Amino acid sequence: DTIGANLDRAVAMWPDREALVDVPSGRRWTYAEFGAAVGELASALYASGVAKGDRVGIWAVNCPEWVLVQYATARIGAIMVNINPAYRTHEVEYVLKQAGVSLLFASLSHRTSDYRAMVEQVRGALPELREVVYFGDPSWEALLGRATPDATYDALSCDDPINIQYTSGTTGFPKGATLSHHNILNNGYFVGELIAYTEQDRICIPVPFYHCFGMVMGNLAATSHGACMVIPAPSFDPRATLEAVQQERCTSLYGVPTMFIAELNLPDFASWDLSSLRTGIMAGSPCPVEVMKRVVAEMHMAEVSICYGMTETSPVSLQTRRDDDLEHRTGTVGRVLPHIEVKVVDPATGVTRPRGTAGELCTRGYSVMLGYWNEPEKTAESVDAGRWMHTGDLAVMREDGYVEIVGRIKDMIIRGGENIYPREIEEFLYGHPKVQDVQVVGVPHERYGEEVLACVIARDPDDPPTLEELRAFCEGRLAHYKLPSRVRILDSFPMTVSGKVRKVELRERFADG
Ligand code: ATP
Ligand code: MG
Repeated sequence: DTIGANLDRAVAMWPDREALVDVPSGRRWTYAEFGAAVGELASALYASGVAKGDRVGIWAVNCPEWVLVQYATARIGAIMVNINPAYRTHEVEYVLKQAGVSLLFASLSHRTSDYRAMVEQVRGALPELREVVYFGDPSWEALLGRATPDATYDALSCDDPINIQYTSGTTGFPKGATLSHHNILNNGYFVGELIAYTEQDRICIPVPFYHCFGMVMGNLAATSHGACMVIPAPSFDPRATLEAVQQERCTSLYGVPTMFIAELNLPDFASWDLSSLRTGIMAGSPCPVEVMKRVVAEMHMAEVSICYGMTETSPVSLQTRRDDDLEHRTGTVGRVLPHIEVKVVDPATGVTRPRGTAGELCTRGYSVMLGYWNEPEKTAESVDAGRWMHTGDLAVMREDGYVEIVGRIKDMIIRGGENIYPREIEEFLYGHPKVQDVQVVGVPHERYGEEVLACVIARDPDDPPTLEELRAFCEGRLAHYKLPSRVRILDSFPMTVSGKVRKVELRERFADG
């Protein structure tokens, strides 16, 4: 199916069920209303000269219009280009140029970001950009005014590109993955299947729509099952998130581990009624065991899924199942999704490694992107001739098929010839009573090549842990070469908008002392 055909099916099956709720503004759409609003916007875009294959940019924080644009562009076969709302003029100009965007949707402003002012600054340098439409602005009404009843569009195929999504930029400059209807609709559908979504489910989505977590695992999983998308706030806010779950009786809640940590650590966390929750998704980075225990016990998310994936694979390739035990939910990222293959290979030779041994994770199937937009050399570096996507992640496949993520190849620390996986040390230090959050990175060292640096957010800023305390805590329980040799106390970590810690930035910042 194309995304448009799949939405038509949802509208026919569940016309009166709620499809979309925007908590900040109180606006609501049933599936019938949502389908009509998407149709109106699609027709308005088509009447504005946007045809199949044209690039339509979206540079905005979460709002219902974001979702309408997602489905309206897919309906006419335009390629939606997701732009990170944290970008500034230099980056947005690069993306708009690189993707050849002709029409741009943008937020007017959010917090300290004045999107309109930034767009006006770069617009002169972008001859291909014909029109800019701001949400909550007369330009939006003017666009909709061009809609015609009974519009017909170019014929679409489910293998057409409809989306360019940029990677998080955790390890370097973001890359634009080109994705088809087939890629992302199937992925959203299967992720939702494994969670057993029905039209009774209401999904609280505090993760950004610009990233695949929000728009595929959130929106497409919801609409392919008749579930409701609930927007708690324009950008992540732990209070607004819990408030939305309580008010809308959400059954599912999404987040990266740092978001769940922020929610659980609210001083008045216990005052929200979260008893409607049954499930959710935690993805993007590893989840500490203690956090998972609290999510299950105190947030009622007994069936929570761990998903592993990457933008380039639509995104999810591994997922835990509803009845998995705590050990599998914290020790692994689940097992492979239907119709996808995974293997673990020796990164140097490409030979498949035996179960139980670490190597680079590779995935293949319907979910692998068409390629990086306009960057065939980069595509060839990560997708091989057999269509296997090389993830850059180190993993171990257990005998039972469940996969442990050991870390990113780029984050591995090599100290005096020993391979050290930061995750193992982080997981351990997380148990120290003075540690609220911790990131471990390798920094250059004359004799050992690299040494272990622990960046710590202290539970009590006035009483941070010392290096001696942390070492004493690890002593006798971790091999000596893994003990941190330096510690830095921070207030926060440098993050991507998708909620991941940019270790590359920590490494650079503390490279020389
Ligand atoms: P960039 O490719 O630009 O450096 P990125 O890889 O963080 O950024 P994404 O595509 O958003 O961009 O994220 C995919 C990566 O996130 C995976 O390759 C993996 O390293 C990490 N990841 C995703 N899910 C999990 C998970 N459940 N546990 C551990 N790591 C995960
Ligand atoms: Mg990546």
